[in-house]
This record gives sequence, C-alpha cells and structure tokens, in this order.
Amino acid sequence: MAGREAGGAATVGLTGGPAGSIVLTSVSPAETVAIGARLGRLAAAGDLVCLWGDLGAGKTQLTKGIARGLGIDDTVNSPTFVLMSEYRGRLPLFHVDLYRLADAADALAGGVVDERQVDGLTVVEWPDRMGIVLPAGRLDVRISGTGDEPRTIELVAGSAPYRRYLAAAG
Ligand code: ADP
Ligand code: MG
Repeated sequence: MAGREAGGAATVGLTGGPAGSIVLTSVSPAETVAIGARLGRLAAAGDLVCLWGDLGAGKTQLTKGIARGLGIDDTVNSPTFVLMSEYRGRLPLFHVDLYRLADAADALAGGVVDERQVDGLTVVEWPDRMGIVLPAGRLDVRISGTGDEPRTIELVAGSAPYRRYLAAAG
C-alpha cells in the first residue's frame, strides 16, 4: 500500500495541535477495512477517533475494520435510530454517528459523552456536529473521494499519544 509522510515533524504546541500526520490511499472497500483493522489493533482505552468525510466516503467501512481490529465479530452498521452503538471486543467499541444532529448541544443532550467511554474506543462519524466540545486529544481520519474513486485517507494525530496510530501506514 502506498503511504507517504506528511508533516511528521510537526511540533506539539500548548494547544495540543496536530502531532503529525500521514496520508494513505485505498482503492477498494476491503483496503479501507484493512486500514481500519490496523487502527483497531493499536487502540487503547479512552481513545477517540474522529472520521471526517462526505456521505459515502467510507467512514462506516473504516469503522467495520476498526471493529475487526478490536476482535469484534458483530457486523457494524451505521447506527440509524440511536446515536451510539456499543460492541464488545478486546476493548469496547462505541460507534457514534452524529449525521442527524444539528449541533453540539443536540449531541450532548443525545448522550454522546458517556462515562463508560474511558474503558473503550470511541469512533465518531460527523464529528463536526460536536464543534467546540471536540477534545484536542484525538485521532482525525480524513477520507476524501466517493463512489468508485480511490480514497485518500489522512491520519492526523491531535496529540502525542495518538502518534502511534500513524504506524498504521506501515
Ligand atoms: P460513510 O459512512 O462515509 O457515509 P460508507 O462506509 O457507508 O460511507 O460507504 C462507503 C461506500 O463506498 C460503500 O458502498 C463502499 O462499498 C464504497 N467504496 C468504494 N470504494 C471504497 C474505498 N476505497 N473505501 C471505502 N469505501 C469504498
Ligand atoms: Mg456512515
């Protein structure tokens, strides 16, 4: 798989700015699942992974891979009638989809912050809905491309502990 370093030398500021990033490409859903699985294997309790990208970019495909990497056998689909679905694996996976929400107030009222999340991995689709309440300590995954186009998948570490996910490129 092609991968290239992009901004690996970025410094960590007091504001917890990006601590490095890497760009991957994926030419198939299976390849996106495989990238997700590598992320899932690296996940630690309390981690937050935010998935950015248009409808159909592949955020849910990537989440299926993350679940596989956590040893979860259940099929992961976008939660349609609930904001957050929970799956049991090596760590619990909390899969949050905020697509239908207007803003952070709705997200919080809907229960997207749950004390049990400190014990698991939280993956958020449509994190823009959370606005200012989005923590700086997170991994951003920015997916571009839709339909049959190849996807560009950029991993951005928001703080130093999230740098280990950039190894998912290797
Ligand atoms: P999102 O959750 O971002 O709205 P989904 O993961 O539900 O998107 O859907 C992505 C769609 O794009 C799926 O139908 C998948 O089969 C298709 N697809 C085609 N190529 C890729 C790729 N390289 N990576 C991910 N999905 C892809
Ligand atoms: Mg989705």
